[in-house]
Amino acid sequence: MNYPEITKPDIDKIPVRPNLDPNFPLGGEFDWASIEKEMDINHQEGLNLTHLAIDRHAASSRRDKVALYWEGKNGDRESYTFGDLSKLTSRFANALLGLGVKKGDRVFTFLERVPEIYIAIFGSLKMGAIVGPLFADFGPDPVRDRLQDSGAKVLLTSPSLRERIAPLLPELPDLKHLIIVDRAGGYPAQAGDSIYGEIMDAASPDFPGITTGAEDYSIMHYTSGTTGKPKGAVHVHHAAIQHFATGKWVLDFHEDDVYWCTADPGWVTGTSYGMFSPWTNGITQVVYEGGFRASTWYSLIERYKVTVWYTAPTAIRMLMKAGEKVVGQHDISSLRHICSVGEPLNPEAVIWGLKVFQQPIHDNWWQTETGAQLIANYAFMAVRPGSMGRPTPGITAAILDENYAELPPGKEGQLAIKPGWPSMFRTYWNNPELYQSRFQNGWYITGDNAYTDDDGYFWFVGRADDVINTAGHLVGPFEVESALMEHPAVAEAGVIGKPDPIAMEVVKAFVALKDGYEPTPELRRELMQFARRKLASATAPRDIEFIDSLPKTRSGKIMRRLLKAKELGLPLGDTSTLEEF
Ligand code: ATP
Ligand code: MG
Repeated sequence: MNYPEITKPDIDKIPVRPNLDPNFPLGGEFDWASIEKEMDINHQEGLNLTHLAIDRHAASSRRDKVALYWEGKNGDRESYTFGDLSKLTSRFANALLGLGVKKGDRVFTFLERVPEIYIAIFGSLKMGAIVGPLFADFGPDPVRDRLQDSGAKVLLTSPSLRERIAPLLPELPDLKHLIIVDRAGGYPAQAGDSIYGEIMDAASPDFPGITTGAEDYSIMHYTSGTTGKPKGAVHVHHAAIQHFATGKWVLDFHEDDVYWCTADPGWVTGTSYGMFSPWTNGITQVVYEGGFRASTWYSLIERYKVTVWYTAPTAIRMLMKAGEKVVGQHDISSLRHICSVGEPLNPEAVIWGLKVFQQPIHDNWWQTETGAQLIANYAFMAVRPGSMGRPTPGITAAILDENYAELPPGKEGQLAIKPGWPSMFRTYWNNPELYQSRFQNGWYITGDNAYTDDDGYFWFVGRADDVINTAGHLVGPFEVESALMEHPAVAEAGVIGKPDPIAMEVVKAFVALKDGYEPTPELRRELMQFARRKLASATAPRDIEFIDSLPKTRSGKIMRRLLKAKELGLPLGDTSTLEEF
């Protein structure tokens, strides 16, 4: 395609780690039973995510290995071994049983990023409940919608968050138990509340046996809401084998790694890769309660000697905005592998990583619905900046035309996956019709548009809903945003199609500038010219508007539909996951 050629020569000089298995399959058929064997799975005994992620390590030489280093936003530090977590999750599982919670009941968390979230999620999974984590900074409406839709029976929350949602409790008849995590102490329990510390103390630290099987529901995650109303994608315990395998393949986990996933458990990366993948692999991970600050983030890497780092394009763009000076103030030489997910990773960000971290950032693609990474740049593969990489073992990915027929390399179309991978969602909660509609002609239709190159690398074009049709040319916003990002003044860009009587749509860019740049008419003109030089003339923006920052979801994705609604003066639609509320 007419993707701007910005691959800098340096990218080839980066040594890639050797692929130790020359038969490593990039996509296609894969014998998942080999992974089950590696994980000692015996279906007769049942299959449980907590058993695979915690209990089996607690019963091995990893018992005293640190599973979790936690750092609070005020600097408090705690650490938990696999042995500790095994006992604590058993206590929580028993406490739930004591409250009358049954297998299949929904247990939701609405809590700051504290260790109790991890204990409650794995404790609930251990006794067979279906868990649902919510972002702590959600306002009352999104919490109500999700608790109503899921029919949650239990909510784990904190005193301050309880207060935030108190007015809507009468609207939640299914919600029978509030469990309050009172870290500060002294919370005067409201009638009917359970206090986390009390029910944990009263519960036994032993929970013998496995209560679930491979196909039992484990977790439901509402999607990010980037393109519309969030939907509850439901997953099963068997997904664990893919979290385990992709942790090795994509995150390149090795026994002594210290891993940091910056995602919040409120979205799928924070659970699949902030809980299930590292711990099924027995890897030590760091969790930081606080939000983004470049210097804090670098000092965490320095303090915990983080080796593998999984973050998101929006965070990388913020680090780029903060500049290179702050990187130099920290020793982050422990870092050996960096990955990114959630949005397309602009080639400029890959190149920047090369400059400041002396290694490229490895983009990978997946969705709430896919449960695990399906397309990735591997540690042993030469990174092509701007590409999502190649399918993981066991994944058949293709590009389809509008009739769901396969397209050859170089042709843009719908990204689709052959159904049947272990971590695939099993339904949308309360919406089986929508679930069915995602499968066409034997394919799962992802809703993203992409193309492949001759070597089988996948290149993201845009979400099907975001693709712009200008005078018959289909333009993906990512291509235009990435070109603008190459200009030193641009911190981030969001591109939409603006209705036009002649061209149907024209490309309009919203641009946020880096500190120290003024939004002048001259800079606007310069950016227009800059983009025109980089892109085909039909693709270059006809209009550029400066904006302080772009509207984003809680999971850090640019909400182009909001930019478009604002531009057209239309209703904003579902804004439950919008960052500010
Ligand atoms: P909703 O479905 O509610 O609109 P969402 O699609 O943003 O929300 P998620 O499941 O969190 O919810 O995000 C998955 C989507 O994020 C993908 O379909 C894709 O559009 C985008 N995405 C994730 N990783 C990448 C990547 N590496 N490159 C390009 N896009 C990506
Ligand atoms: Mg989606």
